[in-house]
Amino acid sequence: MNNRLVIVGHGNAGARAVSEVLTRAPDQFKVTVIGEERGGSYNRVLLSSLLAGDRLRPEIDTHDRAWFAEHGVDLIDGDPVIRIDRAARQVVTASGLILDYDRLLLATGSRATQLPLPGVQLPGVQVFRTLDDVETLVSATASGSSAVVIGGGLLGLEAACGLTQRGMKVTLVHRSQSLMTQQLDARAGTLLQRALEARGIRFCLGRSSRSIEGSARVEALQLDDGTRLPADLLVMAVGIQPNVELARASGLTVDRGIVVDDQLHTSDPRIDALGECVQHRGVCYGLVAPLYQQAEIFARRLAGDTAANYHGSLTTAQLKVSGIDLFSAGEFDAEGAESLIFNDPRQGIYRRLNLRHGCVVGALLYGDVTDAFWFQELIETKRNISAARPVLLFGRGLAESRLTSEPESRETEAPQLQEFSV
Ligand SMILES: Cc1cc2nc3c(=O)[nH]c(=O)nc-3n(C[C@H](O)[C@H](O)[C@H](O)COP(=O)(O)OP(=O)(O)OC[C@H]3O[C@@H](n4cnc5c(N)ncnc54)[C@H](O)[C@@H]3O)c2cc1C
Repeated sequence: MNNRLVIVGHGNAGARAVSEVLTRAPDQFKVTVIGEERGGSYNRVLLSSLLAGDRLRPEIDTHDRAWFAEHGVDLIDGDPVIRIDRAARQVVTASGLILDYDRLLLATGSRATQLPLPGVQLPGVQVFRTLDDVETLVSATASGSSAVVIGGGLLGLEAACGLTQRGMKVTLVHRSQSLMTQQLDARAGTLLQRALEARGIRFCLGRSSRSIEGSARVEALQLDDGTRLPADLLVMAVGIQPNVELARASGLTVDRGIVVDDQLHTSDPRIDALGECVQHRGVCYGLVAPLYQQAEIFARRLAGDTAANYHGSLTTAQLKVSGIDLFSAGEFDAEGAESLIFNDPRQGIYRRLNLRHGCVVGALLYGDVTDAFWFQELIETKRNISAARPVLLFGRGLAESRLTSEPESRETEAPQLQEFSV
């Protein structure tokens, strides 16, 4: 008997892995999924829509209890794994359950980072990561009127928009001078800021938080320049930390994440890992696309496909706020690359493509995201676009005919900036 697969974590990665295993290696494994959160699996990405009131609770489920039962997968929920005995090939849960495994998959994800500010333990100070967090946030909107969000990345902006949509007056505090600094350049960041200001969100950029005030619950956030921002609710959206403690305590190789190779093996070949908890080729991802690819590779290998290897993922970002079109992929602010820029401030349209050696290495689209996936494909396939360079910014319709009619040429020019302004 060599077929007991135990999956630790039933977030996006664990849930996707179960589906992939059932599809690609059917009837080969007796699968048990153990999750810390209560209930079946839900799509964490959609928590922003749930907070904004754009979706209802059942709409974000991916695998409910009935799904697990129907597919013959055992689900142990609300009971985290607290120990792995690698010699005995067993996992132990908080409630004392002991389960044998032949293959173990760690999909423990990440948790939200909390800034160690004085007052951080006060009621009303909240992170934005789980379904429970969203339920707490939504109930806080019923009794409070003002919120402060710390963090001007994707998550902080989606939290700010969601709370605004629920009628709160929101101020967003961000250390940098511009928004989404990991995905946007300053020009696109400014366009985004203006669009969100028009929706009523107030910004305090280039400032840091010093302390949280309050007696029974949060009352205000103090900034480093002395500004006091009154708040009935304070949301911290300042980053994530991979959940590696279980792996570390089990003696697996751990750096920032659980270190895996191209086969997604940890330092113990019977234990694989995927999702936000892993570090692959030095990279820890914080998005779902990489974990979907990893889940497929994991299942293909389980099914015996030894050619299946994971080589890393291109990261893309989109803000899930209706009415704001934004797409960023690859090297958005590539040093040493050439930049092609189209800028139409009146229409609120901005496009920037970064090129290196005749290939697109990064794409940033604001205001009009037509062709976003085509640009993504150009980055992924490393297609030489030199023949279409003069019209590339204007999209696939104009560029594709040139690419197909002219032979590919090689470009080795020095970095330069080419800009079209309207
Ligand atoms: C509000 C929000 C919006 C997002 N929007 C986007 C987006 O638009 N696009 C995008 O690409 N990404 C987005 N993300 C990120 C995306 O949700 C994550 O990349 C993805 O959910 C990671 O999946 P995961 O399974 O690796 O980790 P998680 O989803 O964190 O799941 C890990 C699970 O493992 C459980 N666990 C941990 N330790 C144990 C243990 N010892 N025993 C048992 N269970 C354990 C955890 O409780 C959790 O349920 C968003 C995230 C949030 C919070």
